[in-house]
Amino acid sequence: MATKRGSSRDGTTTRRSARAAADRKAVQTAKIAAPEHVVVESPPPDPDYPRFRVDPELGVRLATVDPDESERYAKKKDIADELDRQRKRIRELQARLYGEHQRSLLIVLQAMDTGGKDGTIKGVFQGVNPQGCQVWSFKAPSAEELDHDFLWRYHSRVPGKGMIHIFNRSHYEDVLVVRVKGLVPETVWRPRYEAINQFEYALTMSGVGIIKFYLHISKAEQKRRLESRLANPDKRWKFSSNDLKERVLWDDYQVAFEDAINACSTPYAPWYVIPANKKWYRNLVVARTIADTLEAMSPRYPAAEPGLDQVVVTD
Ligand code: AMP
Ligand code: MG
Repeated sequence: MATKRGSSRDGTTTRRSARAAADRKAVQTAKIAAPEHVVVESPPPDPDYPRFRVDPELGVRLATVDPDESERYAKKKDIADELDRQRKRIRELQARLYGEHQRSLLIVLQAMDTGGKDGTIKGVFQGVNPQGCQVWSFKAPSAEELDHDFLWRYHSRVPGKGMIHIFNRSHYEDVLVVRVKGLVPETVWRPRYEAINQFEYALTMSGVGIIKFYLHISKAEQKRRLESRLANPDKRWKFSSNDLKERVLWDDYQVAFEDAINACSTPYAPWYVIPANKKWYRNLVVARTIADTLEAMSPRYPAAEPGLDQVVVTD
């Protein structure tokens, strides 16, 4: 009598082949769930972060930049090693910049409220020698500052030779909040774009490298972050009712940011628009852009005194 394949008198073969079929099915299901393990493509290209730099000729339309972008990375864990590598590059290059004592780097951070300026500073500059790095946070100007030209308070905080300074808000506030809130008339803020370009050009000519980051979040992401500040007792101190008043002006701020970025992204002091809804991706792109900028400056330790090989340190 013919027996069907897989059956036997004691049923062992049937059970074995049933198990094999189940295993095959499980593998198939897993493949469908994770198709990247099935399709072997050539590896994705190296990240190309200069594409976030705003070309002075082309400008940028903020509405067309996806704040959710994170390339091929899905979660924080995926970039942990890479972020460490970029931080190490910054540390090493900063030490050289400091030792060289000829040039400096000014990093400008701007964003909508909750956009992540503080988090970026914390996440990117970990481990940098504090002696060579300083953060300046700019709030509403004091009476004394208002008695001077708008660049006065910023100019005095520009990095000296060997230093990296981070501006947490900057001279750009004087064409952002000042414009949106109508703190001065247009005849006053409009010419400031040109004044800023000349200021930054003069700094560049005296050895100050300048890079500027706009951390681009969506309005929905701002809502989530404000809600999280309200919900978390440790974050409540960060919540300001003023943020809600500013949020109503979201569209006006977007226009003001876009105009400022387009008027002032120059070959010598470029703006970068960074997708910033995912904090870890934002940190990676900012860190790598700073490391690349420092590397392009190619800072060198000064030459040692001649004849050191013969030096003996006395007892
Ligand atoms: P925060 O960064 O959250 O501590 O807030 C600082 C506040 O200072 C923000 O509301 C800014 O709009 C405001 N601010 C910063 N620079 C200026 C400026 N030049 N003129 C007016 N307000 C400013
Ligand atoms: Mg605030």
